[in-house]
Amino acid sequence: MGISSLARSIADSPTLRLNEEARQLRERGEPVLHLGIGEPGNPAPPAAIRGATARLARGDVKYAPTDGLPSLKQAIVRYTEANYGRRVSPANVIVSAGAKQALYNLLFAILDPQDEVVLLAPHWVSYPEMVRMVRGVPVVVAPPPGGFLPRLEDIERAVTPATRAIIVNSPNNPSGAVYPAELIESLVRLAERRGLYLVADDIYHRLVFDGREAAPAWRFATGEPDGSRIVVINGVSKLYGMTGFRIGWAVASRELVGVMSNVQSQTTTCCSPVMQAGAEAALDGDQDVIEDLRRTMQENRDVMLAELALLPGVRTVKPGGTFYCLPDFSAYRRDSIELSRFLLEQALVVTVPGREFGMEGHLRLSYTGSAAEIREAIARIRWALDPCTPAEIRVGSKTRVRDWT
Ligand code: PLP
Repeated sequence: MGISSLARSIADSPTLRLNEEARQLRERGEPVLHLGIGEPGNPAPPAAIRGATARLARGDVKYAPTDGLPSLKQAIVRYTEANYGRRVSPANVIVSAGAKQALYNLLFAILDPQDEVVLLAPHWVSYPEMVRMVRGVPVVVAPPPGGFLPRLEDIERAVTPATRAIIVNSPNNPSGAVYPAELIESLVRLAERRGLYLVADDIYHRLVFDGREAAPAWRFATGEPDGSRIVVINGVSKLYGMTGFRIGWAVASRELVGVMSNVQSQTTTCCSPVMQAGAEAALDGDQDVIEDLRRTMQENRDVMLAELALLPGVRTVKPGGTFYCLPDFSAYRRDSIELSRFLLEQALVVTVPGREFGMEGHLRLSYTGSAAEIREAIARIRWALDPCTPAEIRVGSKTRVRDWT
């Protein structure tokens, strides 16, 4: 009662419900293993903690400029030049409360009601909800069966006169897919041809494995940032272990940044200057932390793949980056939400249902934990699903017996 129909329609995430169930199980002392987490345990860089603490200690805690502290914006300009080889001006940058708020501000700034945004499944859960929250229409393009790379012709077919933007997230949450450079280039050309925004959500762009690199959309852009409809979204959450700092940014034409800044000024005013100081110190500090994380996640991916290979009927496309994979469990003939709940209740392992990402039949598994945790979690899943494994398994201090076949 008294709730708008739009707000009511915003998805109540099964993941959050499953996480809550997992929390309650943990509280009761159950040894729950979490493959649902979207953040590794790497600590925030000491420099970031020092940067934030120093600002707090100075009492320098008043409102900051809406679009970000000038010194952080300069650090983002340097990051952009170092990582993308792209010269931008501070006027092309806006700092927001995470990449998430940057995306929301952007969608608010570019969409009128009923405008369409093309999303490429598997896609991050928040994209369709955010598009709908600003009264736009998400149009989801599914990949061909057995893979996670969309076909250009399917994307072209999805573009209509109402399309305003395409969101690309490579490396991809939830699949770990890294889009080939040719696909990114084709998307840039398509966006240019049709006058669309190409939104590159680059939050995982340095977490790429096997000596490869993610191809940035900017590599293929013609013209200057101010004339361009490429928008790059990034932040410190994932690469620097700073999810709780809530600092992200968008780099776009100064006209668009100006409008996004107006939107932000009327909602959050600005991001915490304390956390901005921390983000600035991270960007200017030791960058080896990213390589350390990348290497660990690559090792974890290999452990995860080796364990999943032992699960009969499960097919996994090798992730090229991030800390997620999206194995196909459709051989088990259960709806993904039901399967996730089953694995939580029986095996005490948290997974994320593929339906949330537009990929029913799949489960998203994170490999952010230790190798031992990954091995044990997949062994428990194997025990829960494969009747050829012994009926008894040791979970924590208790023995569980499989009795649901
Ligand atoms: N984009 C993608 C694809 C993500 O997976 C996430 C977090 O899970 C975000 C954006 C949000 O990042 P932030 O913590 O900077 O808001």
